[in-house]
Amino acid sequence: MFDLKTFSDGISLLGSVVSTVKPVIDMLPKREKEQASQKLLEVEEKLQIAEAQIAKGLGYELCKCTWPPQIMLHAGEAEYGEKFRCPVCGRVVSPDDMPPLNSWRTI
Ligand SMILES: [Zn+2]
Repeated sequence: MFDLKTFSDGISLLGSVVSTVKPVIDMLPKREKEQASQKLLEVEEKLQIAEAQIAKGLGYELCKCTWPPQIMLHAGEAEYGEKFRCPVCGRVVSPDDMPPLNSWRTI
């Protein structure tokens, strides 16, 4: 069975590896530094996508204003559930204006 908790722990571990490696990359010669930074950016994007998938699996809403998508966070109570706000564009969704669940595409 797919264990979301283990997956999520692995992703945050990878995230901390990335931030540990960053200062080391800064010390590299220019050419190597550019290549390594490029790779690191790719890894970071994949990590963000994985995080967004975890969030989706945990029932969070995703905002598609950026790629990778932003995870929308709790922004108060609505009449029939919770409101969520995107930390980047500030869009707020509430259960009252959400489309039916089956129309949401999975990423
Ligand atoms: Zn947004």
